[in-house]
Amino acid sequence: MPAFICVTCGTQFSPSETEPPRCPICDEERQFVPPSGQAWTTHEALARRHSNTFTQHEPGLIGIGTVPTFAIAQRALLLKTEKGNVLWDCISLLDDATVAIVKGLGGLIGIAISHPHYYSSMVEWARAFDAPIHLHAGDRQWVMRPDPAIKFWEGDTLTLAPGVTLICCGGHFAGGTVLHWAQGGQGRGALLSGDIVQVIPDKKFVSFMRSYPNLIPLSAPSVERIGRMLAPYPFDVIHGAWFDRTIARDGKQVVERSIARYLKAVRGDGSAELI
Ligand SMILES: [Zn+2]
Ligand SMILES: [Zn+2]
Repeated sequence: MPAFICVTCGTQFSPSETEPPRCPICDEERQFVPPSGQAWTTHEALARRHSNTFTQHEPGLIGIGTVPTFAIAQRALLLKTEKGNVLWDCISLLDDATVAIVKGLGGLIGIAISHPHYYSSMVEWARAFDAPIHLHAGDRQWVMRPDPAIKFWEGDTLTLAPGVTLICCGGHFAGGTVLHWAQGGQGRGALLSGDIVQVIPDKKFVSFMRSYPNLIPLSAPSVERIGRMLAPYPFDVIHGAWFDRTIARDGKQVVERSIARYLKAVRGDGSAELI
């Protein structure tokens, strides 16, 4: 039986004889079903028309993305740690070349994913590399392909390896998670931020939203919480969700400045818009 994949969000569902009736992730206010309607593909069909490409963002961090792009078009990050490689976020396509390359790099000791939009084909990846998937329990309801490889964690932080810490910030999703890599950014610290701290075209700022495609803002307390959760962690570099979304320096100040701007916008009197 095929494990169908939603064409809009890239999420793979449990194997079924027929296409699932709907995609709960797209059929929700943070995503969307396109005007052409819900559409499905399979891993086999995807592999016929797409392949994966690899980019080293910095020593120890390789981006893996699909070309031509598919669904939300995020790329995963292969992070080298003292204990072995961790895959941060995930993508729908895992082809034979990607399996061979990742195995050649030492395989995976674990997969961690920022939020449900990037759960994608996580079970295919977990099985190929015999690796557990670390998801925050706050987003348990959004798993469309349950599997014994999925390990739900609770609370504010989870250490995956020395200097590699998952931090639950919430915001975009209740279990919205970022990864702090203490040795990243050439030792200055790096944040792997998914959609939770969104790297935007103006690299002097980041942003925070409940929905990016549908432009639904977060509340001020949610954004303040993100600031509180990140406060203890030094970082200079921020690696966002796409190949071109990296902030190369002053990441900590960028986040602090962006939180202040956001809070001023949602609490302000409108005078900022008159400029
Ligand atoms: Zn979907
Ligand atoms: Zn998202």
